[in-house]
Amino acid sequence: MAVQAAEIPQNTTSAVDLGPAVALSCRECGERFPLGPVFACESCFGPLEVAYELPSGDVEELRRAIEAGPKNIWRYAPLLPVPADVASHPSTNPGLTQLVKADRLAKELGVTGGLYVKDDSGNPTHSFKDRVVAIAVEAARAFGFTTLSCSSTGNLAGAVGAAAARAGFRSCVFIPHDLEQGKVVMAAVYGGELVGIEGTYDDVNRFCSELIGDPLGEGWGFVNVNLRPYYGEGSKTLAYEICEQLGWEIPDQIVIPVASGSQLTKIDKGLKELIKLGLVADKPYKIFGAQAEGCSPVSTAYKAGHDVVRPQKPKTIAKSLAIGNPADGPYVLDITRRTGGAVEDVDDEQVVDAIKLLARTEGIFAETAGGVTVGVTRKLIENGQLDPALTTVVLNTGDGLKTLDAVAPTTGPTATIRPDLDAFRAAGLAG
Ligand SMILES: *Cc1c(COP(=O)(O)O)cnc(C)c1O
Repeated sequence: MAVQAAEIPQNTTSAVDLGPAVALSCRECGERFPLGPVFACESCFGPLEVAYELPSGDVEELRRAIEAGPKNIWRYAPLLPVPADVASHPSTNPGLTQLVKADRLAKELGVTGGLYVKDDSGNPTHSFKDRVVAIAVEAARAFGFTTLSCSSTGNLAGAVGAAAARAGFRSCVFIPHDLEQGKVVMAAVYGGELVGIEGTYDDVNRFCSELIGDPLGEGWGFVNVNLRPYYGEGSKTLAYEICEQLGWEIPDQIVIPVASGSQLTKIDKGLKELIKLGLVADKPYKIFGAQAEGCSPVSTAYKAGHDVVRPQKPKTIAKSLAIGNPADGPYVLDITRRTGGAVEDVDDEQVVDAIKLLARTEGIFAETAGGVTVGVTRKLIENGQLDPALTTVVLNTGDGLKTLDAVAPTTGPTATIRPDLDAFRAAGLAG
């Protein structure tokens, strides 16, 4: 949201240079605070968001500058809480991933209005988390932190490890002890400390909140806890890229996976900023949330018509989405209802089917979160909530190579034969 400098009370001026970011503001009560490593409002405990003084010059000039910018998220630096020279900082440089026109998947699903997959498996550590971490690293640098940390369902730990290695921070990240091997190896290989916690993600997150309040965690920047307002802004780049890649147009419908709900909330924020700046025409759009049935606190609340999200104990193969007590759950409910979207869930078998459907129609191997999103898209079309005649973008947020176990039991060689033609003939695969 654009902020007039005159509106900012004296005590919220800040010495740190985070580009167009001028303050933090409470999402609930609107109170403003100086830019700093804080995430909750002192008055009402609401979540803090970054407030901006956004560029006010010629919109065509801004569009040209973006289009001529780096081929990664830093092309949008004027709209992010980062210093103007951010592209010269050592970074994993995520973003500008493919927006794939998914005609063969569209045919299978009966979508006629144009179906696209935004494939974030193409990021440096193969998930959308590189976007949010890159922004949080800039905040950590500005606030003088020396250790980067996070509570993670897997992908975030890898993204933090890589970004810390690249930018020269120490890292120490926390994950539930029972994650997929691909996630654990990716989190450890960059050389930082990796700690498995005996418990669910929600236990890991609670532990990290305690650590922040303790002298043991002094000097630590937790990208998704005390740096959460900045971290969240990284997800806006998905909205920016999707619109730019569609020729500066907002799609009619977007289907987004939901763990904590941060990504969905900030994609909506990004779309609203583009409209406000005049970079895209104002038009209605619908936002849909996707969850796994085994961890579906938000879709359960959505279907029951509730405004509060009741925590669940996760049990699903979609471990990257296994947050039983999602911080931004109520905002996901608000945004999906306000835009005319919905929140839906699919079971583990449907997740595996959807992973294979996307792979066989488009050559994209998604992790379980991508299976959730494609599976939910199919279900929303079947139950009439998603309009197949409208332009639809589905997010694939991670790479199937990190969750091989999900598909391994039902995927393998068609045949194993002796190396001779008779054996091949007998296998019946010619033609
Ligand atoms: C973390 C994650 C998400 C969802 O993130 P939230 O912002 O917490 O809702 C989606 N997909 C993948 C693969 C993730 O790792």
